[in-house]
Amino acid sequence: MAPTESTKTSQSDPNRARRLVVLVGPSGSGKTTLAQRLIQTRRLNCAFSVSHTTRPRRPAEVHGQDYYFVTREAFEALQGANGFAEWAEVHGNLYGTSMAELDRHFGAGRDVLFDIDIVGAHNLWRSFGGRCRLIFVLPPSWQVLVERLVARATETELTLRRRLRTARAELQQVLASPAPWSCLVNDDLAVAVSRLADLIDAAEGDHDGDRSPLVTAFLDAALADPRSSDLPSTEA
Ligand code: ADP
Ligand code: 5GP
Repeated sequence: MAPTESTKTSQSDPNRARRLVVLVGPSGSGKTTLAQRLIQTRRLNCAFSVSHTTRPRRPAEVHGQDYYFVTREAFEALQGANGFAEWAEVHGNLYGTSMAELDRHFGAGRDVLFDIDIVGAHNLWRSFGGRCRLIFVLPPSWQVLVERLVARATETELTLRRRLRTARAELQQVLASPAPWSCLVNDDLAVAVSRLADLIDAAEGDHDGDRSPLVTAFLDAALADPRSSDLPSTEA
């Protein structure tokens, strides 16, 4: 049983336990966009958790803003010192949320937004229980997901297929998850940001009920798309 903590206190209460808002969902579903817009609205006092990663920095990325880019040796040293609240290996690279990053935001009285994989989400939920808002972000359809990923122009054919395969696996994992997920469909962005704020503000345990029909429909579309099937071992 996960630990719980009352969250039915007001935004301005300095003693209110700070919430962990964990956005999980297929790459291209809009997690980064939603997180940025939510912070811009200033409706909630929240900040984005900057993860550590061993992945090479992409040209547009900024150290300390998008990620803390570190060597595998530095990452493993921090792991050895119990410096991570959670970590996971994704596509061959290590990613983790440092304890220092959490302390930095909680110390300033802010809720924290995460864009992490489902393994990391479960680990945060096991540690922080009812303080977590687990939100699974979906685009309006599988077809729209593929279109947004292609339009973002960050993927090659191979990395697109890898991301679609990961998306399929995450859909299967969220269906099987024991954790209390809410689903957020990111169709009209302004509507989705408002709904995200409502989900975060909802009382502990007040998540949006049975997620299975929506996720199952999405998974069916994923399974029908050969681009999300397992890659030949030479390409994996
Ligand atoms: P993620 O962080 O989940 O990988 P992004 O936030 O990078 O996804 O969004 C993927 C692409 O979809 C980006 O090009 C973004 O501008 C676009 N996008 C995000 N949300 C919407 C939306 N509601 N409507 C249309 N395009 C969107
Ligand atoms: P990308 O390399 O595209 O930025 O991220 C790849 C994946 O790693 C995404 O699913 C992202 O959510 C996940 N990720 C990013 N940071 C973390 C983290 O700190 N912990 C975990 N568990 N996953 C992360």
